[in-house]
Amino acid sequence: MKTPKIGFISLGCPKALVDSERILTKLRSEGYEIAPNYNGADMVVVNTCGFIDSAVEESLDSIGEAIAQNGKVIVTGCLGARADEILERHPQILEITGAHALEEVVAAVHKHLPPMHDPYTSLVPPQGIKLTPKHYAYLKIAEGCNHRCTFCIIPSMRGDLVSRPVNEVLLEAKRLADAGVKELLVVSQDTSAYGLDLKYQTYDWQGKEVRTRFYDMAEALGELGIWVRMHYVYPYPHVDEVVPLMAAGKILPYLDIPFQHANTRILKLMKRPAATENNLARIKAWREVCPDIILRSTFIIGFPGETEAEFQELLDFLSEAQLDRVGCFAYSPVKGAVANELPDAVPEEIKQERLARFMAHQAEISAARLKLRVGRIEQVIIDEVVEEGAVARSKADAPEIDGQVFIDGATHLKVGDLVNVEIEEVDDYDMWGRLLD
Ligand code: SF4
Repeated sequence: MKTPKIGFISLGCPKALVDSERILTKLRSEGYEIAPNYNGADMVVVNTCGFIDSAVEESLDSIGEAIAQNGKVIVTGCLGARADEILERHPQILEITGAHALEEVVAAVHKHLPPMHDPYTSLVPPQGIKLTPKHYAYLKIAEGCNHRCTFCIIPSMRGDLVSRPVNEVLLEAKRLADAGVKELLVVSQDTSAYGLDLKYQTYDWQGKEVRTRFYDMAEALGELGIWVRMHYVYPYPHVDEVVPLMAAGKILPYLDIPFQHANTRILKLMKRPAATENNLARIKAWREVCPDIILRSTFIIGFPGETEAEFQELLDFLSEAQLDRVGCFAYSPVKGAVANELPDAVPEEIKQERLARFMAHQAEISAARLKLRVGRIEQVIIDEVVEEGAVARSKADAPEIDGQVFIDGATHLKVGDLVNVEIEEVDDYDMWGRLLD
């Protein structure tokens, strides 16, 4: 009997990527083969993203391409919540499921392409199938979100917060570390809210009681002896507890903390978590405990009703906060988002003008902060070895979104190696280092 082959397209954020890995792991464990292209596949699964309009378009285009080149297509992921819209464009689709619907996707695959009888013909490694390079992996600790930020439709697509029990998360993390992963990127919609839905339930982990809670999980992950990086954390008071773990070198001194704005009125209009917290005071306190902490954030410019004075407050916040890495988007309405009903939309040209001012302002801050690192000795992880040398990342840089460290001539290094370099040069985003080891 011919082995059934599945083609797979994974779009969207790291949380969607983890869903893709789970689906592939399950299918592989049932004997399906993963085809590298459409032609070699018996069927294609497209894991879509529906976060902003451009992502919706990309997803619809990918579905169209898979239909044109293969013909048998199953759609899953965030955009699956808008099945009517997908079917309007692509009525030939076989099945559609929503986000993190592992069982439904697998059932849909079984229906249209039954598995072989003997699932033991193909072995799955204990850490599952990973779509990331071997040396780092995303660790998804929860699904969904209890917040209702007015610009976001994720809760309507992914539902309320559902945390994974901490022993499950730690077991997965340990398997990944045992398989040679050197860096874990902890992701969820709101990592600081981890465990709230489980009332911080306690589980046994290697003979110790561990609560399903942000601090306890961070502390236990810190025992694995690999890099652990925290993404999508909100500035709640209990986040302060985790900073000493960073100062002690247990987890990376890195917080990805999407502030989105600095003005309290706008934050309340956005219904942001921790909208009324004094973030500048909190940042100052974190730096006192852990002077090396790296703060990455994202902001939205031109949210409905944003005045010039409120925008200026945001620029002043940037000057004070001295964030290391910042991403920024001009507000654009997302179909189905509550913010679309808000009055006083900011005209497009003003949004773009503010965006440019914001970027120029932060570029100076980021560059100045990077310059402070010249002359320092830093541990870096090797991501790639090319003809000219090695391309690495420091503890301050998450894959894909932050900067890189270039080590000229170090072609003998291997992907995943951890080495020390002296930082010799920097530009606005990247650094160049001399290998010390
Ligand atoms: S915290 Fe806000 S932006 Fe993030 S997923 Fe939840 S509702 Fe969306």
